[in-house]
Amino acid sequence: MILGAGLAGLSLADALQEHTERILVLDTRGIGAGASGTPVGMINPATGRRGKKVWHVEKALPSIHQSLQSAASFADQPLYVRKGILRPARDQEMADEMHKRYRKSEWPPGWCYWLTEKEIQQFHPGIHCVSGGLWLPVGMAVRVPNYLQALARKFADQNGEIRIRPSYTYHSYRDSYWQISTDRDEKIKTRKLVFASGAGVLKETIWEWVPLNAVKGQVAQFKFEHPLPFGHSISSKGYLAHTDQHHLTVGSTYEHNYEDGQPNEKGLARLTDIMHSILPELSESGTLERQWAGFRVSSDDHKPVLGPHPTLKNIFLFTGLGSKGLLHGKYLGELLAKHLVKGGTLPEKVNISRFNRP
Ligand SMILES: Cc1cc2nc3c(=O)[nH]c(=O)nc-3n(C[C@H](O)[C@H](O)[C@H](O)COP(=O)(O)OP(=O)(O)OC[C@H]3O[C@@H](n4cnc5c(N)ncnc54)[C@H](O)[C@@H]3O)c2cc1C
Repeated sequence: MILGAGLAGLSLADALQEHTERILVLDTRGIGAGASGTPVGMINPATGRRGKKVWHVEKALPSIHQSLQSAASFADQPLYVRKGILRPARDQEMADEMHKRYRKSEWPPGWCYWLTEKEIQQFHPGIHCVSGGLWLPVGMAVRVPNYLQALARKFADQNGEIRIRPSYTYHSYRDSYWQISTDRDEKIKTRKLVFASGAGVLKETIWEWVPLNAVKGQVAQFKFEHPLPFGHSISSKGYLAHTDQHHLTVGSTYEHNYEDGQPNEKGLARLTDIMHSILPELSESGTLERQWAGFRVSSDDHKPVLGPHPTLKNIFLFTGLGSKGLLHGKYLGELLAKHLVKGGTLPEKVNISRFNRP
């Protein structure tokens, strides 16, 4: 059984279906009710202000791309656009760091290019850029909730089951099983229990020794009356994700201190500022169509966390996807599925065993 129907839980469920038949996903709130509810997410292979090549991106990118393609037949509208991501440097320091990192990294052919400031201005007239930046033609923008709904339909089509139960308890049962008792008086027995419950993991005492934190993020979607004259997405300090000619999704705030999980005026002001600082020559300001906020879960070393609980038998964790739930969710879901079914090894960098239980 998997707890949580977000990118982690549904990616794992999808991967497990290739190995085993009976999988149940249980969520307290609904499909994509957590961080995976972000309206549009980017698949960006070079992240942060330095444009660092993402860990295991050579395997992770084909994995999510293939998953998006196979989920597309269960969706009623396009799930993603693959028109690339432009990463103009915002200032000289950022340009120097990005360029240095670019020269040190080995990229698969056609994945990443360094463009001079002049080339970036030719590519996207009017964009704010200092001394050049990266062009990633393989970058994508994804309608995340639609992708999750399509994954859920695919899962159900192959006899998978998702139940929404606001409240439940779990306890060990006959040594190697777990029993979940729900608010509907169901008693569900499972051999393996995987926690993929996003920020919900931080409330579980059995995982409190794992160094995880939740950072609030807010995004805003703007609608433009006239078609925007470009198709790619942009990531600088903040991002503009682009899935159709009339919308930009602007992200994101990173809030370590917050009062609640709701979007607010301060966040909106920051996002409006991001949009205009990246594209100072936008001919219209766009109408605010929607705001959204959620919590990203990250570990202290900013790498995902997966694997078995060190002392409780048959209990597993899959979390810490941070800002890369799309890139890493499917790839790591596949690795964890192999681990659960065949005992496959998990890479050290993401293995929960790197943290010591006090
Ligand atoms: C503002 C913002 C922008 C982002 N932009 C991007 C982006 O551009 N690209 C990208 O790749 N990633 C992005 N991310 C990160 C991405 O959304 C996350 O990495 C990913 O969604 C995490 O997935 P998850 O399944 O681990 O957690 P979640 O999506 O939070 O899913 C957890 C699920 O568990 C459920 N749950 C909670 N408690 C329990 C419980 N006790 N029992 C059962 N179920 C429970 C919740 O209801 C939820 O459905 C962004 C995140 C934010 C907040």
